[in-house]
Amino acid sequence: MKRGGIVRSVDELGRITVPKELRDSLGWEPQTRVEFVVEGEEVRLRRYATGCAFCGEEKSLRTFRDKPVCARCLRELKSLF
Ligand SMILES: [Zn+2]
Repeated sequence: MKRGGIVRSVDELGRITVPKELRDSLGWEPQTRVEFVVEGEEVRLRRYATGCAFCGEEKSLRTFRDKPVCARCLRELKSLF
């Protein structure tokens, strides 16, 4: 997302509302778990996932475009090309 798009304020309890248009575009329904990723002075939010984005496997994970992918799914993906 481009810098300077949508601005929100932190309330007294430290809460920030994720804009509806973002929630909708990301498919974040109520109860979706999100993870705060701190990178220097910035914080990124991403859907919290403990396993492979395709099959849920929790071992031998690599990250591709911020999504965990297991070795088996990675091999299957590579075989497509
Ligand atoms: Zn997998």
